[in-house]
Amino acid sequence: MTEFFDEGTLVAVLTTQPLDRTLDYRAPEGGCFAGAFVEVPLGPRKVLGVVWGPGAGDYDASKVRSVIRVLDAPAMREEMQAFLSRAADYTLTPLPAMLRLATRSPGLGDPPSMRKVYRLGHGTPDRVTAARTRVVETLTEYGGLAFTLKEVAEMAGVSTSVVKGLVAQGVVAEEDSPRDTPFAPLDLDRAGHTLTEDQAAAAQALADGIGAGGYGTTLLQGVTGSGKTEVYLEAVAAAVRAGGQALVLLPEIALTEQFLTRIDERFGAKPAEWHSGVTMTERRRVWRMVAEGQAQVVVGARSALFLPYQRLGLIVVDEEHDTSYKQEDGVLYNARDMAVLRASICGARVVLASATPSLESWANAQDGKYAHLKLTSRFGDAVLPEMRAIDMRGERMEAGRWVSPALKAAVAERLERGEQALLFINRRGYAPVTLCRACGQQIGCDHCDARMVEHRFLKRLMCHQCGESRPMPDACPHCEAEGRLSAVGPGVERLTEEAAALFPEARIATLSSDLFGSARALKAEIEMIADGGADIIVGTQLVAKGHNFPKLTLVGVIDADLSLHGSDPRAAERTFQLMQQVAGRAGRSEAPGVAMLQTYQPEHAVIRAILGGDQEAFWAAEADERRAAAVPPYGRLAGIILSSTELAEAHDAGAFLARNDMPLRRIGAQVFGPAPAPIARVRGRHRIRLLVKAEKRAPLQPALAQWVAQLRLRGSLRVAVDVDPQSF
Ligand code: ADP
Ligand code: ZN
Repeated sequence: MTEFFDEGTLVAVLTTQPLDRTLDYRAPEGGCFAGAFVEVPLGPRKVLGVVWGPGAGDYDASKVRSVIRVLDAPAMREEMQAFLSRAADYTLTPLPAMLRLATRSPGLGDPPSMRKVYRLGHGTPDRVTAARTRVVETLTEYGGLAFTLKEVAEMAGVSTSVVKGLVAQGVVAEEDSPRDTPFAPLDLDRAGHTLTEDQAAAAQALADGIGAGGYGTTLLQGVTGSGKTEVYLEAVAAAVRAGGQALVLLPEIALTEQFLTRIDERFGAKPAEWHSGVTMTERRRVWRMVAEGQAQVVVGARSALFLPYQRLGLIVVDEEHDTSYKQEDGVLYNARDMAVLRASICGARVVLASATPSLESWANAQDGKYAHLKLTSRFGDAVLPEMRAIDMRGERMEAGRWVSPALKAAVAERLERGEQALLFINRRGYAPVTLCRACGQQIGCDHCDARMVEHRFLKRLMCHQCGESRPMPDACPHCEAEGRLSAVGPGVERLTEEAAALFPEARIATLSSDLFGSARALKAEIEMIADGGADIIVGTQLVAKGHNFPKLTLVGVIDADLSLHGSDPRAAERTFQLMQQVAGRAGRSEAPGVAMLQTYQPEHAVIRAILGGDQEAFWAAEADERRAAAVPPYGRLAGIILSSTELAEAHDAGAFLARNDMPLRRIGAQVFGPAPAPIARVRGRHRIRLLVKAEKRAPLQPALAQWVAQLRLRGSLRVAVDVDPQSF
């Protein structure tokens, strides 16, 4: 039973303000339930909060203020409170920051008067002004979508009165918000594809788990195109049939559209969608419908984990190995791990799907912590792509050229047959280095320890660390020599140029995240390619993720050695996963596919493993190495990044922590560093890193918390703790 607080009793309210504790307030007129979303006074302001429990009662009762009002929003469930608390403890994040992830519904608790939305109408303005034109252009760009008054004004950069003026003339149409429009229910009786024997067995195992109830995680490991999606859609159906809600997490927003269509085809209804590309109005609707249990299926990005499900029955994490599940900004969490945590708290099932699981999940399946289901062959007549190496030592390469004669010949063959070829390079921009031929200096970012990367399509130099960008200069910023800047090394744009030179007749599409202003534009491009509108696709890892291009039969990897270098122990795993995923784009229909890897080290163990395709052997060997080194998943790691505008300040703090390591020594953990972080300066802040290594079962978080708490944060010093870092 949810606790009820009578009017005037003390309640603890958690706000999203950067405080390290809850604050006491008096319950408002009419009382309130635990979990209620409320507005409370904080100093001169009114802020959003959640009634977290009974008040602590540890300060002057006469000074305690009252809750202003209970918001018109479904209260936070106890299991959500528990999830946020446990997630905060795990990631060493202050609870208010965690709460912020769960209150991202714009207009949470808006009064009904704010539920009007605005879209383009049919009238014409009596008078044209620059501001009015901007409003019309903005709404036209969003093709008939509706927004709140504030949103329209903000997007167009005008005051709300300009928008209201246009409403009066019918140029902008005002209507009631669709926030409370329910989602169409899934048609669960609709027949899906007839599953193959292997698929049916896997689907049955997942359905049995859902039928049994309670928490459980399954690793669904199946080669690309084996029908993992078909299988887990059956689990979605089973969860919904059992009265639960299902969440499907995807690693890339660009994938959602294809996926929504798939759900629509399977169940005759579109699910709720949740990611940064979803409009504010739609987000309000999704948040509310999820909270009311009306939305049966949600498809989204990692932030969808923080929606207020009423009876979550299943979480699917598709492409579970994908590094984009790790949020590297603000709250550092891995959505895959948080999915497992959330499910374990509310008694839901988890399906982790991948062709190339993370070593973590693979090890958990080996140890029996996760159930393990495998699909070993592609569906239908499609076969797995053949993997071949092109030994670059034997290829005659011209300077400034990256496509070998062997790869060129293979592409030409595909074009003749009317098939598609993909050239893959995991580097955005035109060239990774811009060098001045007069003074020999490279152009770097003023704020980061990183090079500026030329983006020729945009005619700009960009820093991939901080996002700083400036027009491409003619003269060298160091020696001012004119016309001597030259591009060194290949990027995806340069490769596009080369492909165009090699195949002047071919239609070429470039897929790189920075080339598309919006998710919508990227989606259109992907559909165009899937429909056969391009002959050659030149792409970064954006293309490696799950896209289905039926006519694609050749994947050429320009530099298979690229991610092998460097000292990160995860390099082998990453390279292996990336190569398998990219290769997996080829030959997904009838025509067989080939993946050709350009490499200077065909004997390298990882390259050999990729060519040999024996995944289990590769994972077993990787596991042995990690076990010997006692690193994840056989040991625990945490990274501590100390940053400051003053290098000495960051360094001294690192040295201080390294000296005062008692809390860690008590649990048998070791500290390495301080040392410059892998990127030693970002946005003008110097970064020093410490690594903490502990045994698998050591109580790492409390020790870390105690250890870091010894630090006095002075000046511009900041500390970020990254539990289970992606690279180490
Ligand atoms: P994965 O998720 O493992 O990459 P998908 O589920 O996307 O595989 O399946 C690959 C392709 O094969 C898709 O186009 C899918 O519709 C088709 N497919 C898979 N299984 C079946 C089946 N049993 N009947 C019909 N089509 C199927
Ligand atoms: Zn920078």
